Amino acid sequence: MTDLKRYIRDVPDFPQKGIVFRDIAPLLREHFAPTIDALGALLPAERWQSIDAVAGIESRGFILAAALAMQHGKGFVPIRKKGKLPPPVVDRPYALEYGSGVLEMQRGNGTLVLVDDVLATGGTLRAAADLCTDAGYEVAGLIALIDLKLIPRFEWRGQVAVSVIEYV
Ligand code: 5GP
Repeated sequence: MTDLKRYIRDVPDFPQKGIVFRDIAPLLREHFAPTIDALGALLPAERWQSIDAVAGIESRGFILAAALAMQHGKGFVPIRKKGKLPPPVVDRPYALEYGSGVLEMQRGNGTLVLVDDVLATGGTLRAAADLCTDAGYEVAGLIALIDLKLIPRFEWRGQVAVSVIEYV
């Protein structure tokens, strides 16, 4: 199996000094299909059967979640940064490794798997999971392509986030 981690590019001091940004662009360009396969394999087949849609967090989460949704015959639900979705929306503030923001989503129902590219402090994934609940969805899985392991284990309401690539 391809070592997907080899295709992550480390970019020092981006987007600000002291941060090492893990750039997934080379991975998406060289090994997109195996990356999506690896993400899909994080959840057992029975779990996929009970899921209605895949939610992606803007913007790199969209790329992964949309492909994953296609692969499993599910719908796609966008979680966006403030001001991008037409109303009515529900929102949640969140803190980032560098900065803060507000996530928004439209109301819905059914079971979602939540997908993002990177899990750092977990602030984004936690806010997104809370937001899904606020919006009327049930969260049945938390997926990050990369876990930076800034925290030993990300847990939300008893569910543990799963990832393909880890930095220890
Ligand atoms: P957290 O909220 O877990 O601290 O940060 C995760 C969010 O920030 C994700 O939405 C992710 O897109 C972005 N992020 C933080 N660090 C990195 C990084 O090194 N590389 C990439 N691609 N995204 C990052």
